[in-house]
Amino acid sequence: MPNKTIYIKEEHLSIFNKVQEIGKDSISSIITDSLKRYIEEEEDRDKKLREGSDVEEKLFRILKHSSTLKASQIHLQPDVNEHRVRARIDGNLRDIDSVPENLYRPLVAFLKSLAYLDTDTQEPQGGRFSWKKNGLTWDLKISTLLSVLGETVTLNFLKTDTDIPKISQLDPCQRIHPYLQSIAQREAGLVFVTGPTSSGKSTTLYSLLKSVDRETKKVLTIENPVEAVIPGVIQVSSDEYFGKISQALRAGMKSSPDVILVGEIRDTETAQICMELAITGHLVFSVLHTNTAVGAFLRLRDIGIAPFFLKDAISTIIGQRLVRQLCPNCKESYSITKKEKEFLNDSGKTKKLYRPKGCSACGQTGYQGQIPLWEVLQPSSEFHQILEEGGDEQDLEKTLKLENRPWTWQEDGIEKAKEGYTSLDEVRRLVSWK
Ligand SMILES: [Zn+2]
Repeated sequence: MPNKTIYIKEEHLSIFNKVQEIGKDSISSIITDSLKRYIEEEEDRDKKLREGSDVEEKLFRILKHSSTLKASQIHLQPDVNEHRVRARIDGNLRDIDSVPENLYRPLVAFLKSLAYLDTDTQEPQGGRFSWKKNGLTWDLKISTLLSVLGETVTLNFLKTDTDIPKISQLDPCQRIHPYLQSIAQREAGLVFVTGPTSSGKSTTLYSLLKSVDRETKKVLTIENPVEAVIPGVIQVSSDEYFGKISQALRAGMKSSPDVILVGEIRDTETAQICMELAITGHLVFSVLHTNTAVGAFLRLRDIGIAPFFLKDAISTIIGQRLVRQLCPNCKESYSITKKEKEFLNDSGKTKKLYRPKGCSACGQTGYQGQIPLWEVLQPSSEFHQILEEGGDEQDLEKTLKLENRPWTWQEDGIEKAKEGYTSLDEVRRLVSWK
């Protein structure tokens, strides 16, 4: 047992001395045992306090570092050799730290307790919490999952009102802004934002909501989960309705909203209600997980929404996905290669493109932040007729003219590569070319 200074009361000491004097072994050993227990308990308490402050210190360092790197997520992940801390920065994961073996479980338990999750079970759980330390505050969403190597934890940074960009800040190019501004000023209709997971759809929807006149209009959202709190908007989590968006939406309608954001449309019932709202004078925003804007119409037809309904309800579909933005500090221009010239096929107009280099400002990656690639679809009556006749994606694509779809996101990506916002490789990595 290591040396340990303990403080005991004088009367205890005098009894102990007396017992030793009279040499009654049995009483002496009882008291010695009790002292040993006392010392052990003290040491255990000290260890827990030490671990507790170590855990808080570790969490503080991880959160502060991730915030500096503008990470959107943190992943705590037990691995074969170490417990990794990975941050999602500009869409990609990067190792930023590790947690020593003795701190990992206490750290996971601490995070769970912050979100009022059950610390006695390793069943998957989720929740959210706010944590303050050293004058900084973080709002986080947490989810846990048991892997063969131990519990993993995913933390998502929740946005605040100030994190949500204005429409004019969504894209360094201005092409999309007039379309989005006009959508935000509409009185009625259904507007979809489509794209794969983590393509910035929620940010676009929140930006649209921020641009709606919240003074004269009642704005309601039904979300799962609520990702950012916007002043002047009534935000409802579908969790309160057992995760059923349609049920939450029906309840929300009784409060007479003018503008409604529906987090995501996954089922026919929710889609149907949104259509009805749109054709009865409401402005409705929602999300569909489809790869193309045209695909959104096919998805809705597939889940049983009548094409004539789609024609009346849907005014615009915005397609988007994100590419990494070249670091403005270190990007370098180069003469276009022969292969790239053939690929761009623009009669040799483009002479140079830009590529990543790497500097301290971008963590040597050559990229900093992300920018969206957009597509706007405003279908014609011919488009709807083909849809009604059962046409497929190719048939529908053929009907599109410039006024229906001013550009595809592939074209937007190429423009952004030419303008030096991103690299051509980055665009080609994300977009499947036809
Ligand atoms: Zn750089």
